Amino acid sequence: MKIAEQVTFAAGSLNRDAESRGNTETQAVLTKNAKLLPLWQGKILMQPAADGWDLSYLSQDTLPADFATASQVYLGLQDGTPLFALDVSEWEPQDNLPDTAQFLDNSIQCHPDLPEDRGFFELRATMAGLTPNEAEVAATARSILEWHRIHGFCANCGARTHVSMAGWQRDCDACGRSHFPRTDPVVIMLITHGNSVLVGRGVGWPDDMYSLLAGFVEPGETIETATRREVLEEVGVTVGPVGYLASQPWPYPSSLMIGTWGHATSTEIKLDPTELSDALWITREDMLDIFSGRNPKIKPARKGAIAHFLMQNWLADRLD
Ligand SMILES: [Zn+2]
Repeated sequence: MKIAEQVTFAAGSLNRDAESRGNTETQAVLTKNAKLLPLWQGKILMQPAADGWDLSYLSQDTLPADFATASQVYLGLQDGTPLFALDVSEWEPQDNLPDTAQFLDNSIQCHPDLPEDRGFFELRATMAGLTPNEAEVAATARSILEWHRIHGFCANCGARTHVSMAGWQRDCDACGRSHFPRTDPVVIMLITHGNSVLVGRGVGWPDDMYSLLAGFVEPGETIETATRREVLEEVGVTVGPVGYLASQPWPYPSSLMIGTWGHATSTEIKLDPTELSDALWITREDMLDIFSGRNPKIKPARKGAIAHFLMQNWLADRLD
């Protein structure tokens, strides 16, 4: 797909500067002049902008006192400026606590020492309003900090691990193993049959939310095998030819969405109720209505998600 790298989170120009990660003297210099991006429990400090949102960077001088001891990860260089992600999850906001009961947490947490328009936003709600460079930084920061949060102990021997390589490695002194950030491959497939595309509604999703089917690639599988297996498991539809379209880092928390196409060789849907509440074949004409907001029962996939990108380009005949 020629325009594959236009998908959200895939079009940035971050220089990850991996060769600087292991040099503590270089890191000390980089930290002094850095732009620091605070993240609080997976939410990112941002501020509204004319055409969406801006990431809200701080400097060592503008850092609130209770952020000063936060752990940090060197993200790399953008236009020569060093960027660090700062994990301020231990800060306790006094109001606007996260709304975890909602499908999407729209609450915003504001630190009293920062300007009023800055707050910690849920990235899922703002991702389509960031520039490509900012989206890449946000995705990288969110994934790497979440990896640290859940990998404090060695998977080999159970001892506590410590951070090295400017945040890109954890080492275990007890057994000598090093551990590296994970990325979990997920296939997400545009399955078509003639003029129709297959969509599903996950268990627990809002009633009007339908998207492309998706699932984790299992050990020992190819992308093609995983595409066919997931569709068969979830809706009982068989798939013939399969191919690759585009990929998208998906920082919730650390997936790589691999967009594929597949041609169905059967159409009858036999739903797996543990995975999906509903699945439908939708014609191109009906999907055009959905994308233009004319269908009261179904909303288009969320803007910024690869499902939206793939379906939009299927409708526009731009998958080549
Ligand atoms: Zn160990």
